Amino acid sequence: MPETRDAPRPRFRVGLTGGIASGKTTVSSLFADLGAAIIDTDVIAREVVEPGRPALAAIRNEFGEAVMAEDGTLDRAAMRRVIFTDADARRRLEAILHPVIRDETIRQAAAADGPYQLIVVPLLAGSPLAALMDRILVVDCDEATQIRRLMDRDAESEGQARRMLAAQVSREDRLAIADDVVDNGGDLDETRARVEALHRKYVDLAAR
Ligand code: ATP
Repeated sequence: MPETRDAPRPRFRVGLTGGIASGKTTVSSLFADLGAAIIDTDVIAREVVEPGRPALAAIRNEFGEAVMAEDGTLDRAAMRRVIFTDADARRRLEAILHPVIRDETIRQAAAADGPYQLIVVPLLAGSPLAALMDRILVVDCDEATQIRRLMDRDAESEGQARRMLAAQVSREDRLAIADDVVDNGGDLDETRARVEALHRKYVDLAAR
């Protein structure tokens, strides 16, 4: 039918999620190497609070100069301290950021190409972004590995790393929403081989 010939193919979207330091960034860059389009909500969360963006003005309005750095950027450490001790402040920050991040993610997903899209959302369970996904892929490793990698990467103490994990959705709850799981508990070559198999599967599913 001529009127539908140029209609874009519906895009196949995989939501990638996982716990802190489970390897979301590592795994998504392996998929990027294979040609998947990557949309990362952590990257978007940083972009939307750059100077000049409306979300930064809204944060300044809500929380004042105490969360602003001298150079007009968001003082992330100060912001983290505020929300760490004040659950209401956390909710107010999320009320500003979540809709903006969601809209920007949807906009980028509509614009992106590639055989399929991989959309990285650290907290996908319960997020409205889950509705965008055709499949959910969970990056998984055991908690001891997560803690070790977190300590190595960010020079966190073991106690702090454990507290960060404890504040998260449990491994069990994350795995419960998975259509696919990539085990990132081994070395990078093992993970790469698992990613290659999933990539073939997604190219195949996207073409149907
Ligand atoms: P965050 O939750 O903080 O955003 P993340 O889930 O994106 O983290 P990464 O940053 O990809 O996780 O990985 C955490 C750390 O573990 C990094 O230093 C990374 O280089 C390392 N790492 C990830 N996967 C492996 C692996 N298979 N073998 C060895 N090191 C790994």
